[in-house]
Amino acid sequence: MAKVMVVGIGPGRYEEMTIRAAEALRACDTIVGYTVYVDLVREHFSEKEFLTTPMTKEVERCELAFTEAAKGKTVAMICSGDAGVYGMSGLILEIGARYPEIPVEIISGVTAAIGGASVLGAPLIHDFAVISLSDLLTPWEKIEKRLLAAAEADFVICLYNPSSKKRHDYLRRACDLILQYQPGTTVCGIVKNIGREGEEKEILSLEQLRETPVDMFTTVFIGNSQTKAAGGRMVTPRGYRI
Ligand code: SAH
Repeated sequence: MAKVMVVGIGPGRYEEMTIRAAEALRACDTIVGYTVYVDLVREHFSEKEFLTTPMTKEVERCELAFTEAAKGKTVAMICSGDAGVYGMSGLILEIGARYPEIPVEIISGVTAAIGGASVLGAPLIHDFAVISLSDLLTPWEKIEKRLLAAAEADFVICLYNPSSKKRHDYLRRACDLILQYQPGTTVCGIVKNIGREGEEKEILSLEQLRETPVDMFTTVFIGNSQTKAAGGRMVTPRGYRI
């Protein structure tokens, strides 16, 4: 049946995919995605047709999903984590308006913030802000404003896209802004390759985080004024008396 399903596959490990997402991939004819994500699911759905496009070809990838579905196929467009968090579900719905006869179904997944939080402990248990440091689609001035506002309001801050080849000093710049409102001793955490081979975590201070190089497969957590390191884990207390 002609249909596009947008499927969040979770952070990486098959077991961290939701049952609904796995069933959608089992039921589809064709899996469309960015090469790296397709490689994460290929072994479990090897009988499917796979169509890949490179990282920056998002619009083409969405068009491809609809042109394949228009042939009568059920197409699963996969995204890492959740497709609605810096993912493709918005673009699919915008482009889908041009294909009113093709239904779109969106299936949520475990986003990096949630997957990474469990690796670190319980850093996000209270109010938190999620901010991407990528200025490809957002002006840097707006990112700065959001970082300052979140730090001033004492949110736990979760940073996506903390670095890339062209933006190697963005995390340092973000830390400098947050240091205007939060002390250098603020408890922070980084998790690399959440749910994938080579998963690594580190708990460190905001001062140390400022000096730490990270890559684009890392999610960064900056605690609020109450966050602590407890038994090697990062914990933001909810306020229970113990
Ligand atoms: N839709 C994705 C986010 C895409 S933006 C989601 O919901 O998780 C890409 C950024 O997400 C990366 O730069 C990184 O900060 C984070 N990320 C995604 N998957 C990750 C993983 N397995 N491990 C660590 N960080 C990850």
